[in-house]
Amino acid sequence: MPEMDKAQLIELLDFPRKRILQSMELNACPHAGFFNSSDEQCLNCYQGMECTWMNHNDELIAVEEKSVKEIKQQLLIAVDFIDSNLTPHHLSRRNCECDNCSWLRKTQELLAIEYSD
Ligand SMILES: [Zn+2]
Repeated sequence: MPEMDKAQLIELLDFPRKRILQSMELNACPHAGFFNSSDEQCLNCYQGMECTWMNHNDELIAVEEKSVKEIKQQLLIAVDFIDSNLTPHHLSRRNCECDNCSWLRKTQELLAIEYSD
């Protein structure tokens, strides 16, 4: 059931989308968060990773038209982001039930499954 799997992956993009958006300081961005690859300011921006990710996975973008492989790549980046923003407190707790840790566990489980496109 590859389509079912894809829907699950797309659903998982929701959480990091909110988290990354929260972490971004859009007031400091001259493009209001729209990545502009021809602008040097964008290329050297300290929010570059978050911004590029958002521009790839925004709700306005038809993620369902992407391949499972692409979505998984974006989820991997998101896992890194969420993971690096967790305090050691979460990591030391085996079964932390907070939104971050639950999302990480669920996503890592799904990413471990091999899908065919
Ligand atoms: Zn936690």
